[in-house]
Amino acid sequence: MFGIGMTSARARARLVNKLAAQDLATAEVLEIMNDVPRHVFVDEAIAHRAYDDTVLPIGFQQTISQPTVVAMMSNAAAGVSERSRVLEIGTGCGYQTAILSRLFDEVFTIERIEPLQLHARRTLANLEITNVTFKFADGHEGWPEYGPYNAVIGTASAEEVPSELSDQVAMNGRLIMPVSNALFVGQSLIQWERIETGFRKRDICGVRFVPMLKGIEAGP
Ligand code: SAH
Repeated sequence: MFGIGMTSARARARLVNKLAAQDLATAEVLEIMNDVPRHVFVDEAIAHRAYDDTVLPIGFQQTISQPTVVAMMSNAAAGVSERSRVLEIGTGCGYQTAILSRLFDEVFTIERIEPLQLHARRTLANLEITNVTFKFADGHEGWPEYGPYNAVIGTASAEEVPSELSDQVAMNGRLIMPVSNALFVGQSLIQWERIETGFRKRDICGVRFVPMLKGIEAGP
């Protein structure tokens, strides 16, 4: 196992060096991405591709986000003035969740597909990550009980931002999520920062995410 561990650490460092060369994120975010193993979040059969800068299947027609995109989203979230609480919509395999757990005191994460949620819970427990609270639910409503959040991250794309989510962003906090773009196929990753007079909007880049769906899917 020693050999495999060394190989993945080296492959991961190579990936992070590529991200660093693109100037996508601060040294802090890149260091966390260098620490968190991505291969443990995907099926063993595709683990050898875990350090390619690409999306990979995680079952249930969902995908683990591309490292480039995780770097950009984490960077946008990490730029807030206070990092107490972050809300994530779309836990998926939990990779982005793990990165957030190192940037914020507490992470709240919602997933609508039960088996994915259960699997992510186990993966994060194996990594001894203890500051994450999970919820199996439709994330459209957010999680008002623990809000407001310094950052809200959506890892599935919506036609427009649900107002429940923007309502749960703290003053000077940020909402970061992909929304449909009428100009091209795919979506725009947008950052909305809450300021005294409303929200300041910034277009981060074009992206392709799976859609944010309504309702829940229970499963074994
Ligand atoms: N960051 C995750 C991304 C997974 S893909 C990862 O890297 O693994 C997006 C995830 O959002 C999927 O797991 C999908 O089931 C979930 N999702 C889609 N709509 C949702 C909703 N309304 N509420 C909660 N999760 C949702």
